[in-house]
Amino acid sequence: MKDNQLTQPSRRAILKKTLAVSALSVTGVGTLVVPTVSFAASLSKEERDAMTPEAVINHFKQGNLRFRENRPAKHDYLAQKRKSLAGQYPAAVILSCIDSRAPAEIVLDAGIGETFNARVAGNISNRDMLGSMEFACAVAGAKVVLVMGHTRCGAVRGAIDNAELGNLTGLLDEIKPAIEKTDYSGERTGSNYDFVDAVARKNVELTIENIRKNSPVLKQLEEQKKIKIVGSMYHLAGGKVEFFDA
Ligand SMILES: [Zn+2]
Repeated sequence: MKDNQLTQPSRRAILKKTLAVSALSVTGVGTLVVPTVSFAASLSKEERDAMTPEAVINHFKQGNLRFRENRPAKHDYLAQKRKSLAGQYPAAVILSCIDSRAPAEIVLDAGIGETFNARVAGNISNRDMLGSMEFACAVAGAKVVLVMGHTRCGAVRGAIDNAELGNLTGLLDEIKPAIEKTDYSGERTGSNYDFVDAVARKNVELTIENIRKNSPVLKQLEEQKKIKIVGSMYHLAGGKVEFFDA
């Protein structure tokens, strides 16, 4: 697919086209053509502000598709670094797990300056995470709060197995409400990854509930339709980021 990138017009032009169309285009022979190059540099304020929350989510879906098809955008990280030096205008804040196999920016094929990233084991929302997300949206203008759980999550498994270790014990307690609220009739143990994944999904839903309940700032921005709070699951097998309701 690298040859394809060489035939692309300027990345700037592609960026504008991507933002304007914000959808897959179809050639005359019915072949899906997805832009292989995303942002030449980090987002400008004008570019970010022109995006709706839905356009941001769609942009991430396209990025994840590029990741899964092993044709990531040709990121010019130095250009992104230079452009974002004077100011940053990310389109989203992502709350995800620390798991080394679930790096949000890579699996969404996002560059420098595109997303704020908050990572904590089990992607729970405590006060500091809420403060970070409030900054991202209310101060810096991000349009989307994306909570991203993932399959085979060790933190979720640890919560199910009642693991105890120093400060980790209290963190895992934050995940435990999701265990009780997960409707699952099979074996409810940490060694059953089908159950672990079901709890991880419920945990994302509860995290979003907690964000709305504990952050009037974000709740109001969502009610004003200035932001969208969206859940998702990253599937370690296959690499798909499954968006819950977008
Ligand atoms: Zn995890």
